[in-house]
Amino acid sequence: MRLPQLRLKPREERRLKAGHLWVFSNEVDVAATPLTEFQPGDPAVVVDSSGRSLGTAYVNPASLICARLVSRRAGQPLDGGVIRARLGRAAGIRERAFGGSPYYRLAFGESDGLPGLVVDRFGVHLVAQIATAGMERLEPEVVAALREMLEPASLLLKNDVGIRRMEGLELYVEPAIGEVPERVEVVENGSRFLAPLTTGQKTGWFYDHRQNRDRLRRYVRGASVLDVFSYVGGWGVQAAAAGAREVVCVDSSEAALELVEVNAALNGVEDRVSALRADAFEALERLAGDGRRFDVVVLDPPAFVKRRKDIRQASKAYVRLNRLALAVLEPGGILVSASCSFHFSRDALKDAILRASRDARRELRILEEGHQAADHPVHPAIPETAYLKCFVLNDSAEF
Ligand code: SAH
Repeated sequence: MRLPQLRLKPREERRLKAGHLWVFSNEVDVAATPLTEFQPGDPAVVVDSSGRSLGTAYVNPASLICARLVSRRAGQPLDGGVIRARLGRAAGIRERAFGGSPYYRLAFGESDGLPGLVVDRFGVHLVAQIATAGMERLEPEVVAALREMLEPASLLLKNDVGIRRMEGLELYVEPAIGEVPERVEVVENGSRFLAPLTTGQKTGWFYDHRQNRDRLRRYVRGASVLDVFSYVGGWGVQAAAAGAREVVCVDSSEAALELVEVNAALNGVEDRVSALRADAFEALERLAGDGRRFDVVVLDPPAFVKRRKDIRQASKAYVRLNRLALAVLEPGGILVSASCSFHFSRDALKDAILRASRDARRELRILEEGHQAADHPVHPAIPETAYLKCFVLNDSAEF
């Protein structure tokens, strides 16, 4: 297929050659190939300054990331066939990773060769999130491929992510296939949940912590557990199901906490799970003031760092949050401390936890380090795809 070219300035091919897939607008030789000649989503062959092909991309002249590679070959744009093949491959590896249990992130953007597309699978129900103009243009192909591959009862397009604005796209949520239920079932590590689809956070459920929640299960028998930023109880309800004596879930969202109760009942642990609606920082201060202590505290906050320039401020928030958590942690207890902010590195989180422990005069040891689960594959050349950090720490009681 003959495609227009997008030519890079001298030496600007290095990132792509190193394996990354993004081109930034300042790297384009706009005198040779003006970005203004492209419509959002147009395919193009990206070439270096001497005209050698680096692969095929889709272009968005309106975005800072003005092109994303979709193939290392020239003349291989995304189309129905390529999308079908890549979704099929992505689904195949999930099936192997999760033993045929159909609850997982089916596609994770660049990592699955589908830049700008996320699809979560909840059994026969699917939720897709399109983030870029290039993928938006291919929405009919994506819907058709998913229909053909899985014959889903429903597919919701949850196209309400803020980054769409940077791509010049509208924000909207609408069904593409079937009738979308208000809540869908999720099975994770043997526990059952209902997750809210249209009104929930992100796609409704956070599959990325599956393995970390499984780690938690080993430490909670007979324990009292505090699940901070609990959402619908992913950690807390699983802890109760794994034998925790008492679980308190804290979240600021009434709707999320209603589902905590529903989910506790679904697993027969409603007598051991309670919900506390409050700001997490205030709740921790109040619990500490009241002399409450827990054997296990889980901190799984929303991303505090949305942009690089927020790092300092966010770092303070992580230190404060972890310090407050330590104030309610029993001596010898377990702290699970996570961050999903890409801009906040693993070392930065470890450092924040260390500083919190020094402030709180506690001695912590890292027992386990968790990552995102296998349905969120990491592209080794794209640091942005590795965003989830989770430390399981033990307070060494007296030192
Ligand atoms: N731990 C959850 C995911 C957390 S999502 C899980 O495993 O599924 C972030 C949650 O934090 C949301 O449910 C949101 O309502 C809640 N939240 C955000 N800011 C908060 C705050 N200041 N205090 C308490 N909860 C907050």
